Amino acid sequence: MAIVVQKYGGSSVGNAEKIKNVAKRIAAAKDKGNEVVAVVSAMGDTTDELVELAYSVTDLPSEREFDVLLSTGEIVSSTLLAMALRAMGYEAISLSGAQAGIRTDAAYSRARIVGVDPERIVKELDKGRIVIVAGFQGVTEEMDTTTLGRGGSDTTAVALAVGLGAEICQIYTDVEGVYTADPRLVPEAKKLAEIGYEEMLELASYGAKVMHPRAVELGELFNMPIMVASSFTDSPGTLIHGGEAMEVRNKVTSIAHDLDVAKITVVGVPDRPGIAATIFEPLAKANISIDTIVQNASIKNITDLTFTVAKSQLRKAMEVVKPIAQSIGAGDCVSDAKLGKVSIIGTGMQNTPGFAARMFSALSEKGINIQLISTSEIRITCIIDEEGVKDAVKALHRAFELEE
Ligand code: ADP
Ligand code: ASP
Ligand code: MG
Repeated sequence: MAIVVQKYGGSSVGNAEKIKNVAKRIAAAKDKGNEVVAVVSAMGDTTDELVELAYSVTDLPSEREFDVLLSTGEIVSSTLLAMALRAMGYEAISLSGAQAGIRTDAAYSRARIVGVDPERIVKELDKGRIVIVAGFQGVTEEMDTTTLGRGGSDTTAVALAVGLGAEICQIYTDVEGVYTADPRLVPEAKKLAEIGYEEMLELASYGAKVMHPRAVELGELFNMPIMVASSFTDSPGTLIHGGEAMEVRNKVTSIAHDLDVAKITVVGVPDRPGIAATIFEPLAKANISIDTIVQNASIKNITDLTFTVAKSQLRKAMEVVKPIAQSIGAGDCVSDAKLGKVSIIGTGMQNTPGFAARMFSALSEKGINIQLISTSEIRITCIIDEEGVKDAVKALHRAFELEE
């Protein structure tokens, strides 16, 4: 019998009715003769509410307790889903991440999966049961609960699909697949029938919430095909895979956007070896992830250094950087918390000139000022004012003819 791993996101299990709907879909997969493992996210906005709850008690929640708290959201939905299936006459059992054998490192809130021990799941499948796994969580060697980072249930699902030797990992969500832009922002966006891991990874890393970047990374590493589809309709979804695209097009594949960008500029930095390390090492130690870094050409050995972080990390980053700036004899540290980024992504851009120019002129036609630019071989990203992001995505979607 084939093992099928399915994942249902938060909005797909947002209330009792939706949980029953998901139970029916899981039952249908079982009726087709599959062994089914379903990974679930917390119901609706539960995780946000749990975060808020923690911060209503203290400004600085213990990392360990915070992760245990957040993991409970997925426990709730997994048990309710198992109950719904049992009420329909199916043998189903819920397992926590730890029970399902998801082993992680101890980096709370962004733990990485170091291995999957699928024995318990296999034992339950052998009994003919449907296994429901609480996503987004794992357990350290010390048996402490960890979480995998926001959106991490996708990663649980792909890791289990790999660990169980499934043929495919099915991600069911509230849109019908991966689109040429966020369909909530651009109603004309088109669903892609397929996309390569590489492009999907850039899309996910640059803000397309539809897949967790680390899930895509795992899929690529183990060559696990991932199907993204709707949990409400039966329309064919988007296949994320490692094969060659059917047609190598000289085209942009999709536009990503992200509203979670803050910028710090250290003004008047002395330009000498070791300065960048002096600034960025303490930031790394403080667990702050840096995204784009830009250093201006120096004039008389003085330069400006700008980098971006998630908005939630701005305060902490400023606290780390200010004393360093002073100690190295730099000038002021200035920040801007109201930024966003837009990216055009496509392997078709490789070695082809003209994409950047077309992107910049589409933005300028809308009067949008570009603050920072970063690129990879298959991506160009512009950091702009938060309020321009919506217009920028629409303008780029049109400029690169993605609605056609
Ligand atoms: P889930 O709760 O199922 O994990 P998410 O909210 O994490 O769902 O991800 C699905 C959302 O991703 C969609 O509702 C959509 O607004 C957003 N999204 C952003 N970019 C894209 C894209 N290119 N294609 C599809 N959805 C996208
Ligand atoms: N519930 C978690 C979150 O909201 C994990 C997930 O949904 O994938 O981030
Ligand atoms: Mg998600």
